[in-house]
Amino acid sequence: MADLISPCCGDEYTDNENGVSYCCEAIISEEGICYECKEHSEPEIALVCMKCGELFDEAIEDYEYAEQQHDSYLEDRMDAERDEK
Ligand SMILES: [Zn+2]
Ligand SMILES: [Zn+2]
Repeated sequence: MADLISPCCGDEYTDNENGVSYCCEAIISEEGICYECKEHSEPEIALVCMKCGELFDEAIEDYEYAEQQHDSYLEDRMDAERDEK
């Protein structure tokens, strides 16, 4: 079976259970109050990249990430070739 990884870094991820608020992406106190706007808040329902801390909705499979990297490599090369002309 393929591994699921974060789309940004291709790294491990975790859910946002003790994570940041959906309103401000700030820390939430134990009482459920957002530290940023002092409103009652809930953790954003999202997945968090363990590497960069980026929030994302869906993990991708490792081969998808590899394809994505390959595509952006090809695009970069095409851009570079275009710039030379
Ligand atoms: Zn990341
Ligand atoms: Zn807030």
